Amino acid sequence: MKTPDLPENEAQRLASLHAMDVLFTPGEERFDRITRIASQILGTPIALVSLVANDTVWFKSAQGPGVALGVNITETTREVSFCGHAIHADEPFIVGDMAKDERFSDNPLVTNNPNIRFYAGHPLHCIDGNRVGALCVMDAAPRTITAEQLRTLKDLAAIVESELQRGQLNETQRDLIREMDELKLRASIDGLTRLWNRMAIMELMAAELERAKRGIPMCVAMIDVDHFKKVNDTHGHQAGDAALVEVAARVRRALREYDSVGRYGGEEFIAVLSNANLKSAMKLCERIRLSIEEAPIATPAGLINVTVSIGLAPSLAGTAKIEDLIGAADAALYRAKANGRNRLEIGNHDGAASS
Ligand code: GH3
Ligand code: MG
Ligand code: MG
Repeated sequence: MKTPDLPENEAQRLASLHAMDVLFTPGEERFDRITRIASQILGTPIALVSLVANDTVWFKSAQGPGVALGVNITETTREVSFCGHAIHADEPFIVGDMAKDERFSDNPLVTNNPNIRFYAGHPLHCIDGNRVGALCVMDAAPRTITAEQLRTLKDLAAIVESELQRGQLNETQRDLIREMDELKLRASIDGLTRLWNRMAIMELMAAELERAKRGIPMCVAMIDVDHFKKVNDTHGHQAGDAALVEVAARVRRALREYDSVGRYGGEEFIAVLSNANLKSAMKLCERIRLSIEEAPIATPAGLINVTVSIGLAPSLAGTAKIEDLIGAADAALYRAKANGRNRLEIGNHDGAASS
């Protein structure tokens, strides 16, 4: 197996990558929509926005692997990666059949699950010209790529590049990213849903709450999938996982780019709605609820209808502690379940209903 060489400008390249504040951060819809289009137009099951870090390749966006192919969807080691090769030139890096290419035929990503055979990756440049990663598509079957598809890949890569330069995570999330070391940051992302994990979303909530005390209103929404046990029982755990990935994606899509979303527990999510009063937070929650109700989720076991219940709690300026806020959202969620599910209820810090 040919492991990727290190580019001559590796130190500068890594510095440019780190300066963008996107490495080891959660999935974002603005990148996911590009990988969705890439996968659709190029007709490949897998499309990634990958960032080539020191020893690992981080998937900022990933369509296809994970649930469908049973591999970790947040990163792969740089040694076995294909994108590690794609950052060596300005031209796309294409391998039509990995199994027939001596550089890759014994690569574990080729010989084992997900058994990649085809790869096409376009390098991603940051503003100073350093190549920080690749927009790539992959398939488990050998393939060719047309000139037109290559042009599309190039165009989409240019869109990714401009998104990379347009940092969108809010100040609280950026602060958290800068404060944590690389290992801690990598451990802050939930591997299945690519959301912040419980630890990180709690830290973000605490930080937003401090801001709320300075007069910026925020709300916390606790979102729980209805009758999820039944989904697992009826369709199997793998389909359940696929449903969770899609629920997470829809929650993120329904929110504003700068809201923080985390996986709080198994099938329970928390959204920290910064800069939102109760009225606008209610609208956002209703958008979440509808986005999940309105269309069934495609899973390996077929289409599954899923709904969520949501408990929403506003921070009352100056008074709230994080436990109070979570307690209020949780009590409201409990009421939403009791009142029939697939609905939103509002809580205050006494845990009582408010209108
Ligand atoms: P409700 O919330 O509407 O009251 O019912 P529920 O069936 O969703 O209730 P409960 O919270 O008790 O069950 C949650 C289930 O979610 C239990 C567990 O099997 C499942 N679950 C938790 N984490 C995962 C996961 O990562 N993958 C899958 N497939 N299932 C999970
Ligand atoms: Mg549930
Ligand atoms: Mg639950």
